Amino acid sequence: MAGQIFIVSGPSGSGKTSIVEHLLASVPDLLFSVSYTTRGPRPGEQEGREYFFVSREEFEAMKARGDFLEHAQVFNHYYGTHRRVLVDAERAGKDLVLDIDVKGAQQVKRKLPPAVAILILPPSWQELERRLRARGLDSPEDIQRRLERARQEVESCATYDYVVINRDLSKACAQVEAIVRVERQRLAGETPGPAELVAQAEAARKDATVSQVSAILETFGARAK
Ligand code: 5GP
Repeated sequence: MAGQIFIVSGPSGSGKTSIVEHLLASVPDLLFSVSYTTRGPRPGEQEGREYFFVSREEFEAMKARGDFLEHAQVFNHYYGTHRRVLVDAERAGKDLVLDIDVKGAQQVKRKLPPAVAILILPPSWQELERRLRARGLDSPEDIQRRLERARQEVESCATYDYVVINRDLSKACAQVEAIVRVERQRLAGETPGPAELVAQAEAARKDATVSQVSAILETFGARAK
């Protein structure tokens, strides 16, 4: 079994990708889990760096062989985490970072309960819509689909141990970094510290964010499950 597993989920436009990049650059000994996907590469993406790009047939064959720790369908494409990443992380003496969707997070938490699950949320539906429009990557229909999916993701906040609300990217990055450092110290049996770091992480604990998450849920017209 690998060291620790950190799951990071969040709607597109939540800032999740930048936050994961920051985490990998600032905290030592983290291994990014490169998933398999049936979607094609986007400009700038490299085989084996962002994803392993496979055909639907290849994906189905891997699934049938039981290769996946978890897998899910997102917007008509399949995505999966290969079990091998656990072995790779253990051999390298590193902790794993999984950027996966809510269904994947639920599967991993079921199979490996000590995994730490972090949900990144935008401050509101309006702000998410504004960000998706501003990045100019999606058609209006795509933006609607992403917002609809984001609603489901916000509704699934109960799956997560921590909820980080990204109002300010550098603060959200620092908070996720604090969570990882504090959780690592706990696993190592150390007393977590310094106090500011612990306070930053504790402020994102699911129980501490209930009222803020309810306010976000209201903007999405959703109810927490
Ligand atoms: P994108 O196609 O934009 O890179 O990713 C779409 C969604 O798929 C994101 O929410 C991302 O977290 C999720 N995703 C990427 N890899 C995996 C995976 O291996 N398993 C699951 N369940 N979701 C994944």
